[in-house]
Amino acid sequence: MLPTASSCLRRGLLRPTFSRALSTAPEPSQAIPTRKRVVSVLVAFAAGASFYFFLPDPTRSAPTHQKAPLSPRYFTPATVIHNEESGPDTKLLRIAVPQEVLAASDPSGFHNIWSVFIKDDDIQVERPYTPLYGIDDHGHMLFWIKKYPKGEVGRWLHTKQPGEKIEFRGPLATWDWKTDVWDEVVLISGGTGFAPFHQLLHSVISSPTMSPSTKFTLLHSSKRPEELPPSSILKPLTDYAEQHPERMKVELFVDTTEGGPVSSLHVKRIDRPAIESSLGLVRETPSWWQRLLSPSRRWVARGGREGGTTRL
Ligand SMILES: Cc1cc2nc3c(=O)[nH]c(=O)nc-3n(C[C@H](O)[C@H](O)[C@H](O)COP(=O)(O)OP(=O)(O)OC[C@H]3O[C@@H](n4cnc5c(N)ncnc54)[C@H](O)[C@@H]3O)c2cc1C
Repeated sequence: MLPTASSCLRRGLLRPTFSRALSTAPEPSQAIPTRKRVVSVLVAFAAGASFYFFLPDPTRSAPTHQKAPLSPRYFTPATVIHNEESGPDTKLLRIAVPQEVLAASDPSGFHNIWSVFIKDDDIQVERPYTPLYGIDDHGHMLFWIKKYPKGEVGRWLHTKQPGEKIEFRGPLATWDWKTDVWDEVVLISGGTGFAPFHQLLHSVISSPTMSPSTKFTLLHSSKRPEELPPSSILKPLTDYAEQHPERMKVELFVDTTEGGPVSSLHVKRIDRPAIESSLGLVRETPSWWQRLLSPSRRWVARGGREGGTTRL
């Protein structure tokens, strides 16, 4: 299981060291711009651990209710309606909740971002998964699920066929989105850690009134191009980002292109320069006379949009 970290910066809160390094807000000693630029950085990897801190205690022994409204306190049966391969170790799994169950459920439970616990009936273990588009009017939820060589629930879900039943409980808030709190949100994901961010960005695209002044940047990494999120999921995001560069930016990273370079991909890790570049921080190489005159003889990185100036 890969580690994951989640940090967010909100107005008036202390900033963690990692986020401070990425923030373009000025150092205390520097001039304060008229409007503070508040940047939030969220990180999610394939089998995230720290997201569990946001979730209630697991309740694997919770009962199953057939017709009751959706709830994290008990399981609800759903029917598999589609299960197709989407990469070497991933599948797109679509399940349907009965209409009467959805109609009786409280819509305010579907936060940005939310997930459900799916139970492997064979061995009675559960894992959280994120519906990529939330739940639609027909009660459908689509999941992008990775199987690990010795993983339990992912492998079990890959075997599920249309018509079979699976049980889940939820919705559970993974992260509570706050409208118009952040000027810029940087989302960094690896593998299926993309799923919660897709759910958030899909909400942004489908609801123009959602945080209209916030800019979103997604930096996503998969090992190889064929392991990237399937095009049916990714393309609407990249298309939207192309049409609305002031609102969304999507950058894709791979370790290797294996079989020929793909021009739109970065073949590298999501490292500090990549994050700085996404935040609009431009490294300027000082001329020899600037170096000579500079008392500290350090390079200076300038903030972009409304950003302060940060000494490196
Ligand atoms: C809020 C949240 C949302 C999530 N959303 C998604 C999502 O949308 N899609 C998704 O795919 N995942 C998602 N995850 C991750 C998911 O919950 C599971 O962690 C993941 O699917 C692995 O579960 P598993 O039961 O298949 O594997 P596990 O059984 O938990 O195994 C995990 C790892 O341990 C290794 N392992 C297991 N047993 C052994 C052993 N005996 N010896 C050595 N190694 C072993 C496995 O190979 C695997 O690498 C989410 C996680 C969180 C916290």
